[in-house]
Amino acid sequence: MPSGKRNGFSVMDDLDQLYQDILMDHYKHPRNREVLCDDEVLADEENPLCGDQIRISARLQDGRIAEIRFDGKGCAISQASASMMTETLKGKTVEEAHTLIEQFIRAMRGERDFADDLPDDVRALNGVRKYPIRIKCATMSWRSMRHALAKLSP
Ligand code: ZN
Repeated sequence: MPSGKRNGFSVMDDLDQLYQDILMDHYKHPRNREVLCDDEVLADEENPLCGDQIRISARLQDGRIAEIRFDGKGCAISQASASMMTETLKGKTVEEAHTLIEQFIRAMRGERDFADDLPDDVRALNGVRKYPIRIKCATMSWRSMRHALAKLSP
């Protein structure tokens, strides 16, 4: 697959089949993804190493994340992780979301394991830890959401 390398599929070839399937499902059918207008965007992050871009919009209601949407382009890992992030954090309180973001980023950095406190789908990114250059692809949407939350709930 010659075009694969650019899209991160070379990494994915190395992952367990089950995890590949989960990642590809999120990549091909991203959850909570839509085109965002500039004035809706709360956080915008780019990963120049890979050409990835993630833009986040969110809305709080009664202290919970009532709405979370992303827009972006880039490799399969970056886009799949953004989709997983929106599913994981939607409906959570701001405090719960900050905890989950921290747990995820620490897991991606290898500072802890992917444990039961992270959803099954998210654990599909475990294998990406073997590729340090790809870790940013997986974490950028989560970091971006942290910035968005800081604006919504300073
Ligand atoms: Zn990437």
